[in-house]
Amino acid sequence: MFSPTGELVAAARRAGGGVGAFNVITLEHAEAIVAGAESAGRPVILQLSQNAVRFHHGRLGPIAAAARAVASASTVPVGLHLDHVDDEPLIAQAADNGFGSVMVDASKLDYAGNVAATARAVRLLHSQGLWVESELGEVGGKDGAHAPGVRTDPEEAARYVAETGVDGLAVAVGSSHAMTTRTAVLDHDLIGRLRAAVPVPLVLHGSSGVPDGELANAVRGGLVKINIGTALNTAFTAAVRERLAADASVVDPRKYVAPARDAMAAVVAHLLTVIG
Ligand SMILES: [Zn+2]
Repeated sequence: MFSPTGELVAAARRAGGGVGAFNVITLEHAEAIVAGAESAGRPVILQLSQNAVRFHHGRLGPIAAAARAVASASTVPVGLHLDHVDDEPLIAQAADNGFGSVMVDASKLDYAGNVAATARAVRLLHSQGLWVESELGEVGGKDGAHAPGVRTDPEEAARYVAETGVDGLAVAVGSSHAMTTRTAVLDHDLIGRLRAAVPVPLVLHGSSGVPDGELANAVRGGLVKINIGTALNTAFTAAVRERLAADASVVDPRKYVAPARDAMAAVVAHLLTVIG
C-alpha cells in the first residue's frame, strides 16, 4: 500500500533502523523494488530523480502514475519520493502526481542561495503536506568536483536545517554517487557528531558504493533514509548482458528484462535486510 515518506522515515527512526529508498528508471525498476521489499517483508521508498524524468521525455506524469500504482498494489508500505530536483516547476508538480516527498537540490548554489531556494520550496511543499529533504554542499560524485572528500560540517548543518525548515538532511560523510565498487569508507565519528547536532533524520546518498558492514554501522550510527540507485543498474545490466551474450537469437525483451528485474529484486531484498 502507498505510505507517506514522512511516516516511513519516522517509523524507521523510532525503531533505530533505516528505510531503503531505491531509484526508479523504468517500470520494471519499480516492480523489482517492490518485489524485493515484499520478499524481505520491509517497507521501501520508490524514488524518481529529475534525471529519470528527463529520460522519460521530461514528462513526470506517466512514470509517476506507474510507480504510484505499483506502490498501491504492494503488500508492504511503499513511499514515493521525487529526488534531486532543482527545477522549480517540477517541484510544483510533485503533490499532484502522488509524491509523498521531494528532495530539493539547491546544492549548486552558495549557502545563502541554497537556503533561500530550499526555504521557498519547503513553504510550498509543507502547505501540500509533503516531507522535504535537501542537501547542504554536495554529496560527492554528482559533478565529480568534490568526490569523495566532501564532508558536511555539523554546526553549519544545524543552522541550515533551522533556516530552511527541511524534514530530512542529506549529508556528505564519505559516500559518493554512481560508484560501481563497494569500497567507500564512511566517517562514523562525523555521523555521530551530525546526529547530535541536527534534529532531523539524516539521509545517505551514494549508498551503492558502501559495503554491507559499513551500511549497517551507518544505520546504527543514525543514518535513516538510505538512497540506492547504481547497485540496481549494475545488476540489471549484468543480467541483460549475460542473457544477450548467451543467445544471439533472442528478440522478445521479456527474455532478458525478466531476469534483469529478478536480479534487481534480489539486490533490494538483500540490502533491506542489511539496513533494517
Ligand atoms: Zn543522491
